[in-house]
Amino acid sequence: MGNMNLPEVLSAANMPPVSEKNTVLIIDDELGPRESLRILLKDFYTVFLATNGDEGLTMLKTHSIDTIILDLRMPGKSGLETLEEIRKINPDVPVIVLTGFGTLEAAQKAVHLNIFEFISKPFDINEMKDCVSRAVEKNRIILSTTSIINQLNNLNTNIEQKIHDLEKFALLGELSAEVLHEINNPLTIILGYVQILMQEMASRNDTTTEETWQYLKVVENEVKRCQTIAKSFFNASKNSFKRTPVSINIIIENMICFFRDNPIAKHVNFFCDFEKDISLILASPEQLQQVFTNLLVNAIEAMDAKGNINIETKNQSKKVVVKISDTGKGMPKELLEKIFQPFFTTKSGKGTGIGLTISKKIIETHGGQIYAESQPEKGTTFILYFPAYEGNA
Ligand code: ADP
Ligand code: MG
Repeated sequence: MGNMNLPEVLSAANMPPVSEKNTVLIIDDELGPRESLRILLKDFYTVFLATNGDEGLTMLKTHSIDTIILDLRMPGKSGLETLEEIRKINPDVPVIVLTGFGTLEAAQKAVHLNIFEFISKPFDINEMKDCVSRAVEKNRIILSTTSIINQLNNLNTNIEQKIHDLEKFALLGELSAEVLHEINNPLTIILGYVQILMQEMASRNDTTTEETWQYLKVVENEVKRCQTIAKSFFNASKNSFKRTPVSINIIIENMICFFRDNPIAKHVNFFCDFEKDISLILASPEQLQQVFTNLLVNAIEAMDAKGNINIETKNQSKKVVVKISDTGKGMPKELLEKIFQPFFTTKSGKGTGIGLTISKKIIETHGGQIYAESQPEKGTTFILYFPAYEGNA
């Protein structure tokens, strides 16, 4: 089930860096205060200077700024107008506003624009230093809070998705074996009638009905697909499968023999690299066959032209590991994340999207795990782990 490790997600590694020098942007048209601020702050912060509002706004857009010191009285774009635009770019960055003679009215208007502090000109050096350091600290807190909120939001979406998946699984559980069996009967009847109709049309050799024949063909395919779904679930939900100690090598070897002679795999070469003294596993041979059929059919279907399927087995600290690699078309990450979801398929009209869901479920009920790795255009590898059987076989 994905990665939903809360403490890890919220770890310090995800916080914005604090070790680098913080940045202060000074926007003031007067050289005197601008220079004295620069000299006052340059040892502690990276200082950016702007001589007017527009310059300041450009810097804000192009740099990551932790605190702004803004003069209210400036020719051209006024301090107040500048502040309004600052807020459009960044609603949170702390702004220390320098007020001087004749700026009282502007200062009043600026109050609603989220001012960190008003400092009147000429400013006191210590007061200014202290104010900037508090502003920078506030910004750090804002940034980490925002980052945590974003992470929590992502986590939430993640959890919602998982719940959605789980609901689907729950629904699958409710579809009891009997219901599926009941569905299978009418499907068989529908299929029978469709096939009779198709035979009749074929024997009449009536070309005007070509279209109808195509429609029937679609119905036939879809009914068959429903049957496959019903049958797979029926098999998966039967828990009467007897488990015995089995050699995974023998099971896979039999599967490969079957596929080697099968026309669907005529473009595929199989290679095996089996561990000689592979540990036995306690499993239902029928269910394992179902898993390997699903994986091998997928691998075969992933290859249009010639390709290879490589199967490796080995013992690895009380586990039996099986790797099935193909040189097929592979998958991008977004697709790979979804392949075990019920009904997820990229084979429009042909796939059921339950092969991997059921395989995973079977493997997990055997105490095992399945993972997939893939690279587009290169191929896909499925890695299966089963607990080794430790009884005296
Ligand atoms: P289906 O085969 O009916 O589509 P599966 O559950 O077996 O359903 O597989 C789901 C999807 O996973 C497939 O539609 C395909 O997109 C992808 N997939 C599975 N195995 C492979 C593979 N070996 N190579 C590339 N894509 C694969
Ligand atoms: Mg499949």
